[in-house]
Amino acid sequence: MELILSTKKKQKEETQEQVENVVILGSGPAGLSAALYAGRAELSPLVLSGLELGGQAALTNIIENYPGFPDGVGGSQLGDLFQKQAEHFGARVDFDTATSVDLSSKPFTINTYSKKILAKSLIITTGASPVHLNVPGETEFVGKGVSYCATCDGYFFREKKVIVVGGGDSAIEEAIFLTRYASSVTIVHRREELRAGAILQKRAKANPKISFVWNSVVKAIKGKDGMQSVHLMNVKTSKESDLAADGIFIFIGHVPNTQLFTGQLDLSPGGYLITDIKMQTNVPGVYAAGEAADPVYRQVITSAGMGAAAAIQAAKYLEEVD
Ligand code: NAP
Repeated sequence: MELILSTKKKQKEETQEQVENVVILGSGPAGLSAALYAGRAELSPLVLSGLELGGQAALTNIIENYPGFPDGVGGSQLGDLFQKQAEHFGARVDFDTATSVDLSSKPFTINTYSKKILAKSLIITTGASPVHLNVPGETEFVGKGVSYCATCDGYFFREKKVIVVGGGDSAIEEAIFLTRYASSVTIVHRREELRAGAILQKRAKANPKISFVWNSVVKAIKGKDGMQSVHLMNVKTSKESDLAADGIFIFIGHVPNTQLFTGQLDLSPGGYLITDIKMQTNVPGVYAAGEAADPVYRQVITSAGMGAAAAIQAAKYLEEVD
C-alpha cells in the first residue's frame, strides 16, 4: 500500500512541471546584472544565454569606460566576470535560446530549442544587433578594422585613417567622436544629403578631419591580416574605386532583438520594448532592460544598471504575488 502511494506521489510530482521564479533572456551586461541581483535575492534565476554569451559587449576588444577597471578590461573577460559573480550567488546560465514565448497566461511559457520552461517572472535582455552591410570582407575583418562601436574601438585608431558608413545621427555623431583619435574620417553615404540633424551636420562639415564621399556604397572590404581598403561604387555614375583605410565603422542602424515579443508586448515604432520607470513592460511580471529597451544610451554601464533595476522590481513583484 505504502509503495503504491509513494509511486502515485512521484508520478504526480513528475507531471507537475517546475516553475522558475525568474527567467532572464540574454547574457549581456543587462542580463548578467539582473542575474546577480536576482541571485542575491535568493531567486535562483535561470539565464538563457542566447547565441552570444556576454552579448555585444563581449565582442569588444577592450572596455575602458566601465568603472572599476582603470586599465580597461577585455569585453569577453568582463562578461566572464559578470557570469562568475552571478553564478556565485546562485544564478544558472543555460546555453540555450528562447524560440517562442507565451505571456498571455501565468506562469509564462518560454520555449527553447530543447525544452519548455515555465516562469513566474521574466526579464528580457535580448539586446540589439547592428545592421550589417552584408558585403564581402565584413565578417572576416570584424575586430581587425571593422567595427560597429566607435566608443568601444575608436581608441585603437589613433592617427589612422578611418571610414564611417551612414548618414544618420549615429554615423555623424560617431564620426565626430572618432576625430579625437583618427588622423582622418571619411564619411561614405549612399545619398548626397545627410539624414542627421542640422547641428550634427554643421559640426561634421566644419570639422577639418572629416570629409565626405557622397552617393556611394561599400561593395567590399579588402585586406590581408587586417583591413586595408574599401571598394566603393558611386550609385549615380556606377564608377567603382578603392579607398585606403585602416578601419571602417558601420552605423546604418540598430535592430533591437525583440521579434519574439511582437503582438505580446508593447514595442516602440523602432521595435524597442516599452517599459515604465520600473522597467516593467505592459505585462505585469515581465521586465525589460538593456539595448532591447534602450534606443538612447547603449553602454555597458547603463545596460547593467537597467538589469539590476529590473531584477529588484521582479523580486518585489514575486513577493507581492507569491
Ligand atoms: P538611422 O537614422 O536609421 O540612419 C541610418 C543611416 O544609414 C541612414 O543615413 C541610411 O541612409 C543609412 N543606411 C541604412 N541602410 C544602409 C545600407 N544598407 N547601406 C548604406 N547606408 C545605409 O539610424 P541611426 O543613425 O542609428 O539613428 C537611429 C535613431 O536614433 C534615429 O532616430 C536617430 O535620430 C537617433 N539618434 C539620435 C542621436 C542624437 O540625437 N544625438 C544619436 C544617435 C541616434 P539614408 O539616409 O539614405 O536612409
